[in-house]
Amino acid sequence: MPLEIFDLSGKAAIVTGASSGLGRHAARCLAAAGAKVAIAARRVEPLMELEKQIEACDGRALPLRLDVTDPASVSDCMKAAETELGPISILVNNAGVAVTQAALEVEEGDWDRVVDTNLKGAWLMAQALAEHMIRLGHGGSIINTASVLGLAGAAQIPAYCASKGGLVNLTRALAVEWARHGIRVNALAPGYIETEINRDFLASAAGEALRKRVPLRRFGTPEDLEGALLLLASEASRYITGSVIVIDGGQSAAL
Ligand code: NAD
Repeated sequence: MPLEIFDLSGKAAIVTGASSGLGRHAARCLAAAGAKVAIAARRVEPLMELEKQIEACDGRALPLRLDVTDPASVSDCMKAAETELGPISILVNNAGVAVTQAALEVEEGDWDRVVDTNLKGAWLMAQALAEHMIRLGHGGSIINTASVLGLAGAAQIPAYCASKGGLVNLTRALAVEWARHGIRVNALAPGYIETEINRDFLASAAGEALRKRVPLRRFGTPEDLEGALLLLASEASRYITGSVIVIDGGQSAAL
């Protein structure tokens, strides 16, 4: 198979939550494959550094302020991206938050923040992008960052599990509904991937115990998501929609 099938030259993408971790890495990866990338997050300052890094490698990055839980912010972000980059055919719904708390102790505000960001935010972005694609008459690829915690349960993190489980099935519902517009919708389900947010925990004794339960005996790195991301973003996945790609070192395959 020719490798050009993964080439994203001439395409434009939006990555939400691009200021850190997996979002920042995804933006760099899509830019390296040739896409112009709108990098969106609540805080714009950390995006400036990312913009410089992408442009230093001859890529194009457009920093945009975005709160995925706010419909007006979503609409402003989409308008700015369309004005600056033209037709957008790739969305990486990466913004997400987690609250670790026993189910009996979860407060309503924390529940709402997690579900509003991880599930409603992804839906608002997908809806805005699909409206844009249908209006401009082109299809594209929506990639939702779910989690293995959207496929199985874990203690002490109920809102996150519920939001990611909802996101997995939202992925399927939108894939079915928007296939006729040439819009593919798929999800990534990462296991434990080392980023700033969990590095200390993964290095702790509790983290070490978790690592031993991963068949490949290590946690993932943001680079480990690149293959699946490029597959779903590019023409290489032109017959894949409504799918969930698990990237967890075998964790969820083990009893
Ligand atoms: P992270 O905290 O570094 O990244 C999350 C990003 O989302 C941040 O940039 C944050 O500012 C942004 N964000 C949060 N709320 C937002 C909002 N309302 N509007 C816009 N942006 C917002 O963590 P990460 O590990 O890079 O996680 C990225 C995604 O991957 C999340 O959806 C997370 O649930 C998912 N995930 C991570 C792991 C892991 O092990 N790191 C595993 C499975 C899934």
